[in-house]
Order: sequence, then C-alpha cells, then structure tokens
Amino acid sequence: MGGETNDFPASQVRRVVIAGGGTAGWMAAAALSRTLGKVLDITLVESEEIGTVGVGEATIPTLVTFHRLLDIKEPEYMAAVQGTVKLGISFENWLDIGHRYIHSFGTSGKDHWSAGFQHFWLRGRELGIASGYEDYCVELQAGLHDRFAHLPNNGINYAYHMDAALYARYLRRFSEGFGVRRVEGRIVEVETDPGSGFITALKLEKGSTIEGDLFIDCTGFRALLIGQALGVGYEDWSHWLFNDSALATQTTAVRDAVPYTRAIAGDAGWQWRIPLQHRVGNGIVYSSRHLDDEEAKAQFLSSVEGEIIKQPWPVRFRPGQRHRCWERNCIALGLAGSFIEPLESTTIHLIQRGIVRLLQSFPQQVTRVAIDEYNARLDEEIQHVRDFVVLHYHLSNRRDTPYWREIAEMEIPATLRHRIELFRETGIVFHVPGELFWENSWVQVMLGQGVVPRRHHPTADVMQPEDLRRFLDDIRTRVLGTARQLPAHMDYMRSYAPAQRPSTGPA
Ligand SMILES: Cc1cc2nc3c(=O)[nH]c(=O)nc-3n(C[C@H](O)[C@H](O)[C@H](O)COP(=O)(O)OP(=O)(O)OC[C@H]3O[C@@H](n4cnc5c(N)ncnc54)[C@H](O)[C@@H]3O)c2cc1C
Repeated sequence: MGGETNDFPASQVRRVVIAGGGTAGWMAAAALSRTLGKVLDITLVESEEIGTVGVGEATIPTLVTFHRLLDIKEPEYMAAVQGTVKLGISFENWLDIGHRYIHSFGTSGKDHWSAGFQHFWLRGRELGIASGYEDYCVELQAGLHDRFAHLPNNGINYAYHMDAALYARYLRRFSEGFGVRRVEGRIVEVETDPGSGFITALKLEKGSTIEGDLFIDCTGFRALLIGQALGVGYEDWSHWLFNDSALATQTTAVRDAVPYTRAIAGDAGWQWRIPLQHRVGNGIVYSSRHLDDEEAKAQFLSSVEGEIIKQPWPVRFRPGQRHRCWERNCIALGLAGSFIEPLESTTIHLIQRGIVRLLQSFPQQVTRVAIDEYNARLDEEIQHVRDFVVLHYHLSNRRDTPYWREIAEMEIPATLRHRIELFRETGIVFHVPGELFWENSWVQVMLGQGVVPRRHHPTADVMQPEDLRRFLDDIRTRVLGTARQLPAHMDYMRSYAPAQRPSTGPA
C-alpha cells in the first residue's frame, strides 16, 4: 500500500500548553514534566476564580501504578491528601433494599488456565461444600473487617481515597519542581490557524497570550478548546445512564475511616461516602427527571453524618464521550473528554490512561494516523467502562420507584448484553486486552447482583469432590487467616502516613 503523507503542519512539538488546573490538568503536568520535562516547555493555565469541580476523591488501583511511574513517594502523598486506603466498593441497596455486596480490588480464589475460579466455586456450591464467594478474596475480607497493611510482593491490591483539592496542590508542587510554568488567569479566547485549524494560542483576560504547539484541554465540563473552539461534538449516553445531577458536601469524620467507598442506592440515584483521615466526602448522584433539586438536597442532608464542613454544591453533567478526544493539536483529558458517573470511580483512571497513551505516542510532530490510533483505543476503554457501570443498574431487582421501573425497561448496549448472557449460560467472562475490568470484577458484580450461572466449566468436574473441598477450604482458610492478622486500617494509616487535621472549620 502506498503511504499517505501527513497533511498537518510540519512543526515540531516543543511547547505544550495545559489549559485547566484540576485533577486532569495537574496529573498531565506531573506526568509530562517528570517524563519529558527536559525536552519540552510546559505551561499550565488555570483560573482560581473559576475553580475546579471539587469532587473526584475515590480512585482505583491503577493510580498506585501511575504514582510508581512518576516516582511519587506513597507516605508523603497520602499524608498530603488526607489519604486512606480503598480495597473496593460496598454496593448497598442495589440488588434489593437491604442487600449489600462488595466489589473488591482483589482476586478471588485461584484460577486454572482453562477456567476461572468461579467455575470451581459453582461446582462446590452445587455439592454444598463452598461458602459465600466473598470468603475467597483477601482484599474483600480485609475490607469487611476494616483491616489493612501492605503485604510482601505487592500481595494486596488497593487504591486511595484522597482530598481532590489537596491532590491538585500536591501535583502542582511536584510539577513545578520539574519545570512546569503555572500561569494564573482566565482564558477568554482560543486562537486557531485558519489554514490547518490548529490551535495556536490562548488569550487571557488580562491581555497576555500563551502560544503552543500542542494543547491539552483540561478545562472540565466547559471543554473550552476541544468543544467550544474546535467544535468537536459529544455523544450523549443519557439513555443508558439516567443521572445528570449531583450534590457534594464534606463532613467531619465521626468514626475511623473504613477501607472502602460506599455506594448506596436510593429512590432516584445513589449516594457516595468517601472516608478520608479527618473528614468524609459525601455526594448524591440523581436523575433530575425523577427527583427535583430541593428534594434531592433534603434527602441527602438528612442522611449524612458529622458536621458539615463545606455547604453542598451542585454539579450538572451529561454522561457521554467526545466524538474525538484528540482533534488536531488538542487532546481533551478529564471532564472535557468524557463523563461516566463515579459509581466505579473510573474518571481519574481514564485521565491517567489518556496521559499514558499520550506519552507513549508522544508526537515529534502531530500526525493524523497517530491521532486515529489514540482515539480508537481510548474509545474502546471508555465504552468498556460505560458497560460496566450500566451493568449495576440493569441487574437491579428494584422496582420500587418510577426511576427503577424505567431502568428495568431500558435497552442496554449489545456488548453488555452479550457479556451478561455468556456469564448466565456458561459462567465465562472474557477479557479483551486493554480493558480495565478483569474477570474477577465482572464475576463479583454479576454474582453480587444476583446472576448465578446455569453451568460451570467441565474443568471443575475433573477434581474429585474431596479434592475440591480441600482446594476450597485451603483457600478460604488462607484468605481469612491473612485478612484477620492485618492491623486495623486507621491504626496502620496513623503510623504509615498520618495527615494533619484540615484547618477549615465548619461552615
Ligand atoms: C459528582 C462527581 C463525582 C465524581 N467522583 C469521582 C470519583 O470518585 N472518582 C473519580 O475518579 N472521578 C470522579 N469524578 C470525576 C472527577 O471529578 C474528574 O475526573 C476530575 O476532578 C478531573 O476534573 P477536571 O480536571 O477535568 O475538571 P475541573 O476540576 O473542573 O478543572 C477544570 C479546570 O479548568 C479551569 N478552567 C476552566 N475554564 C477556564 C478558563 N476560561 N480559563 C482558565 N481556566 C479555566 C478551572 O479553573 C479548573 O482549574 C466525579 C465527577 C463528578 C461530577
């Protein structure tokens, strides 16, 4: 095949401009400066007057890896952000009111190469020799018993809860240490080249201009560069994800932090609880078609514990994805690029994936083919996350309010339907390289939400029942033994990475 020549400007990428200083902006600044700071000139523009969205405090284990890549020292980071450990998410009232299950970050049991552990467990269940699926995962048991410690050889999978504002501050210091220049000011105009359509500069309110070769749009839901200036449209997923509103607040901690996020389903959405060392992040996510703002606020405030530190602030959103997260010389990260509600705490992960992909395909010069590759891979990742989140709604038994009844009638993406049917019929879960959620996550959530497969893999029949009993008992004994010998989570945190009490008093 004849090679097509690149029709984009031939200029070298040297000057990178990051618009926006929320989690996305500062994560991008940190990673770019740590990796390529010696050969790039990096500027970040942010406006204190506009501020950030102020939420995004629960993460998943990939952030631990991201920090290792950047050589961020964990105790220093955790102390700086009021950090606690997160071993999973407790889903309450999702299957039915009063029901609870945990999606943990660990691995359950032991797989055979031909069949996942769930097949052995299913066979054990048939024979009456297996206990609950949750008994076979260290992280899940440690979470249930509020315990944590690092184990040798990265033997426990975990993520963090953190204060979002403190995280941005921490990354700012880190990035400035690697040469990032921060400019304070409101962007009022995005200049583009009439020929190529490339962004050439950002104009600030006070009159200065910041020129660049590559622009990273981290301006949040405003999407100033990718949406407003370059006109890249947005694919709306509100037919699958009904929620479009949130209220967030911060309260004082009334007890020691548990090592998991709580996601508690309600009449027309759900609430989160994210426990930090000295305060708790709380929020309600809801559908404004099913619950008006005043009622949402009343329900929310009547259920939070502790003193309010920061009065509730509203957030409106539209679930979906930019048609192209990389367009010409502009890459959108964070809320400017896509939004899936935070049920599985995935947005910071998607920011990180965007950054890592950008670094791995960093252009000497912007080319169409590299952009297409970036967008195609990121699309797959985002759609996979969307399916996983929709799963929680689709598998609910709840029919007690119009919201849940409407969800029960909802058509789901074909990709998701296939996964559920495959699991229901065979117990099999497949994993496509690059997908965030592995077999264990799908199994924990599908079992947690009441899907018990009709069949198991014949590999599980190869074991004699006595051997299978020993196999299952050994795993359970080891799991429970390991989890129970760990120290209490907050005792560990107080010696590993104690945070200072925040100075803000009740508001
Ligand atoms: C309700 C809710 C809960 C969430 N919970 C989680 C969670 O638990 N876990 C998770 O992973 N993710 C979560 N997210 C997503 C997470 O909050 C975001 O991914 C993360 O905060 C990144 O936001 P951002 O940096 O893209 O945008 P923002 O925080 O909005 O930052 C935008 C930046 O752009 C700047 N800016 C905007 N316009 C201009 C302008 N004209 N001139 C100059 N600067 C400008 C702003 O000042 C700010 O610095 C949640 C999101 C919502 C809405």
